[in-house]
Amino acid sequence: MRDTCLADPTLVLNKNWLPIQVCSVRRAVTMLFKGLARVVEPEDYSLYDFESWSDLAISNGEPYLQGVSRRIRIPEVIVLHGCDRFRRPQVVFTRRNLFRRDGNSCQYCGRQFSTENLSIDHVVPRCAGGVSSWSNCVVACLSCNARKGGRSTREAGMRLLREPVEPPSQSAFTLHVTRRKASWDHFVSEAYWNTELKP
Ligand SMILES: [Zn+2]
Repeated sequence: MRDTCLADPTLVLNKNWLPIQVCSVRRAVTMLFKGLARVVEPEDYSLYDFESWSDLAISNGEPYLQGVSRRIRIPEVIVLHGCDRFRRPQVVFTRRNLFRRDGNSCQYCGRQFSTENLSIDHVVPRCAGGVSSWSNCVVACLSCNARKGGRSTREAGMRLLREPVEPPSQSAFTLHVTRRKASWDHFVSEAYWNTELKP
């Protein structure tokens, strides 16, 4: 598929046709493909599953996704079958994002360091089955990390300044509100944008 369109926004409606989220075209197509959502044609509110949507012809000059064997129209609005399957976008667990979450400060002594003087500590050590995840990894300075070693916080007599959790993702609404599409106006009133979607 053409990369340029995949990051474009798609409006997501819940099964009651209320706007709940803005996701990327990439995610919208994935949900469509998996049968979790259908495309809404904004002009006449007709619904399409992945197959019937893929069969639609592309108008002249209309942007499209290049699939393996065919061109697919960009879904601008999708409606979910059920809300429970739609999880909020997750923040990818990476070293960089972890440092950002903890503000480059050691989660044991609280002091801030430059990146090269920090390390990643597994709260439950890997040798004890601790996994690399948002809830089990924190940023620690080299001396705190050395002091803790391969022990649990209790064994080491050390205490975390705060419980490590997945950082809240930036709201997709505020992220894409400046890029909203004209077709969304059929589903989202001006009042809704102004009251609900602005940060
Ligand atoms: Zn420290």
